[in-house]
Amino acid sequence: MPERKKKLLPNGGYPMHTFEDVRERYFAYITNPNDRKMIESAYLLAKEKHEGQFRRSGEAYIQHPIEVAYILTELQSGPATIASGFLHDVVEDTDTTIEYIASRFGEEVAKIVDALTKIQRMKLSHMTAEDFEAEDHRKIFLGMAQDVRVILVKLADRLHNLRTMDALSPERQVALSRETIDVFVPIAHRLGIYTLQSELQDLSLKYLEPAAYKRIQELVNDRFNKKKESLDNLKKRIADILFEQKIPFRMESRVKSIYSIYRKMYEKDHDFDDIYDVLALRIITESVLNCYEILGIVHSTYTPIPGRFKDYIAMPKPNLYQSLHTSVLAGDGNSYEIQIRTEEMDQIAETGVAAHWRYKEGTRYNAKDEQKDIEENLAWFRDFVSLSEDNQSKTAKEYMSSLTNDIFGANVYVFTPMGKVIDLPAGSTPLDFAYKIHTRVGDTAVGALVNGVGVALNTVLKTGDVCEIRTSKNAQPNDSWLNIAKTASAKAHIRRALQKRDEEFLREDRIKTGRTALLDSFRLNGFGEEEALELLDFQKIENEFHISNMDDLCVAIASRNPTASAVLSALNVRKKPNITEYASRPLKPKEVDDNPIQVGKGMSGLAISLSHCCNPIPGDDVVGYITKGKGITVHRRNCPNIAGEQKRLIDVSWKRDLGPSTYPVDIQVFANDRPNLLAAILQTLGAKGVGVSDLHAKLLPETMNDIIEMTVSVPDAKVLQDAFADLLGIKGVYEIKRIIH
Ligand code: MN
Repeated sequence: MPERKKKLLPNGGYPMHTFEDVRERYFAYITNPNDRKMIESAYLLAKEKHEGQFRRSGEAYIQHPIEVAYILTELQSGPATIASGFLHDVVEDTDTTIEYIASRFGEEVAKIVDALTKIQRMKLSHMTAEDFEAEDHRKIFLGMAQDVRVILVKLADRLHNLRTMDALSPERQVALSRETIDVFVPIAHRLGIYTLQSELQDLSLKYLEPAAYKRIQELVNDRFNKKKESLDNLKKRIADILFEQKIPFRMESRVKSIYSIYRKMYEKDHDFDDIYDVLALRIITESVLNCYEILGIVHSTYTPIPGRFKDYIAMPKPNLYQSLHTSVLAGDGNSYEIQIRTEEMDQIAETGVAAHWRYKEGTRYNAKDEQKDIEENLAWFRDFVSLSEDNQSKTAKEYMSSLTNDIFGANVYVFTPMGKVIDLPAGSTPLDFAYKIHTRVGDTAVGALVNGVGVALNTVLKTGDVCEIRTSKNAQPNDSWLNIAKTASAKAHIRRALQKRDEEFLREDRIKTGRTALLDSFRLNGFGEEEALELLDFQKIENEFHISNMDDLCVAIASRNPTASAVLSALNVRKKPNITEYASRPLKPKEVDDNPIQVGKGMSGLAISLSHCCNPIPGDDVVGYITKGKGITVHRRNCPNIAGEQKRLIDVSWKRDLGPSTYPVDIQVFANDRPNLLAAILQTLGAKGVGVSDLHAKLLPETMNDIIEMTVSVPDAKVLQDAFADLLGIKGVYEIKRIIH
């Protein structure tokens, strides 16, 4: 390896390091000769094994592990972590085995490299964002949860890959950026490794939203140039006072990350000019007492802006972040956020958990001591580590379940089917998840699939669950949701939706809406309102839907839970056969186009019609009646309307081989009242192919008997007689008559 010092690469402009650069860094804090030798030997093995391999950008492959190791030394990682950084790709990309790694570098390094290799294999198939599988992400997560050092190496690996992504295809760039935002950033955030988190976010954004990225970069530079003088004045004045007061300090200007600004502008819809903390002043001092002294000096020198003071020293964030935040008016029209913290707090703010794992000069590196230190400071990490230690004896499922319940109980990660991590508090349900995805998804949620299984909306979600929300366009929140949702934001959305619903749909309106929907549904099946009400069997409806009266049913139908058609199918209501065809048929005495009647010789040419009063049909005993100017009307021979007539009667008969016509007959059915009587009658006639129209049912209160009048359509008297016989077979029916008007 030729000696080179921090040359700038043309692509991306990142410094390119040599092994000597890495060594210089770890020599500064790792003094044990065996540890130093082990790290160098890991580098030499990686160099030998990757010999002849090149990255897509054209550089020798070894450059990648060198940069990964360099990033790890910036976090002041220990020997095993740095060695794993050098070796992280040798098992996957060369003929080296894990057993060989174990024999040369020990079990600790071998375990880290093994976990990294498995994660690496998992993501090889991901070529596009659509291919991302939640299950794979869960495995990546699981792989990293085994040991915090696996996470550190993996994050460093991903960071260097993103820094050098220019040589990749646009699809691959977007896919890697997406996965970074979905999986790696939340973990970096959870662990408080701010430096890696913010660079990963900014780099991903650069590929996902290039235009927005560029615009924000320009806005930030512009603001920095405009305010530089004002900020320098502020710094100088505070510095003078702190010198005078003999308070130790150092100061730096901090620029908010491009990704954080992007979120405020594009996701929370803020104007760039309204983001007050783009530029901040950071004052780092020695002790906690110094922090509060400095705060007092700042507040007595400049006017603090109300509501902007936050004491994260007394109340640290869950990832251990500590600092005092305040915003002041600089007196020149500008305002600035000022952050005050100790060196130790600053380390943790920048590198979070990594600050705890950094190798400390003068102490024999001892992973167990380091763990203990972290465990004392980071509540959830205690269980996280102890679980990782005995995971050998556990199945993946048990491992995940313990990880979920014991460790991430206070912070639940749930995956979308696309593999995006949704971060929820413990006890959250699919409703919280739905509202976190989008208000619309929450408002229209009807159920959820968790790990592919349908569950109720009140199911408590666990880390590693893959959750998919089922929605229905017309669904809406109900009052019980307020008890189901855990997060404040979901509850707020639900309250808003309920209020809107109450305003828009008073109960009366909903009854009307539901009733119309129900009757329409019956009408589509050929049943009028009276029939419909008759067919509504509330015993069945209560069994099926737990609804016991008409109003409640209508309200429920109005919110499509159940739908009208679900009610009809629960009642077993079927479409009335051919009902519309017969309903539109005129029932007046009509000219018979295809005349079914024949008369004696010499009478041809006369108009012949069937009388309306007795509605004769083929097969009936009939006689012709000669009308004045209207030709011949055909009556049944026993029709009372022609009784006594002699002169004007004429013999007629039905033709043989009549066509497929049907003829309307008005009938009366007499029956004892019972539920579903009409349905039985209609079904019987339907089964015979007999059409029904113009149906009226009357209940005689004294006898509780029904008289049902209707017009049936039949081809001839034989079919009618058969139908009568069938109707008489129905329970309750005791008499049937043809009506003569
Ligand atoms: Mn790599």
